[in-house]
Amino acid sequence: MKRIALFPGSFDPFTKGHEDIVLRGLKVFDEVIVAIGYNSGKSNRYFEVDMMVSRIRETFKAYPQISVLTYAELTAEFARKHDAGFLLRGLRNTTDFEYENSIAQVNRYLNLELESVFLITSPQFASISSSLIREVHRYGGDVSPLLPYKL
Ligand code: ADP
Repeated sequence: MKRIALFPGSFDPFTKGHEDIVLRGLKVFDEVIVAIGYNSGKSNRYFEVDMMVSRIRETFKAYPQISVLTYAELTAEFARKHDAGFLLRGLRNTTDFEYENSIAQVNRYLNLELESVFLITSPQFASISSSLIREVHRYGGDVSPLLPYKL
């Protein structure tokens, strides 16, 4: 059985911190699916989802074991449909821990087959967050050093 992990998130935008989690995830899993949670009916994204999908695909074009999909349903359900036995998430600090802890409990309740696996952020990426990047970009700052692709 292949060990398939789903890496779910908003990825608005996908950052070097996310890239690091995916690449380190490949040491543990045979395949990683980057899954952008996106509901076209009530999207309030800053970066277009289609643009983000193509940037992430471009970032990992050398890795056939990494794929990128969007979804608009329960993460636990989407994982089941894609035979993913694991949810991959990153932890930067105690705030992330509190949030991830409750999400993991809910996902466990929804799908007992699904194990959540957490990787601690690499120190050089610990302060990168999508919300900070949106804020800097909104006011014309250069965010390119924080992203693994060109916008
Ligand atoms: P969500 O909207 O579900 O919080 P995000 O797109 O913000 O999704 O993040 C997806 C996952 O990546 C989360 O587990 C988050 O904690 C993790 N993550 C975000 N930024 C970093 C980073 N710089 N280093 C490690 N993990 C990160």
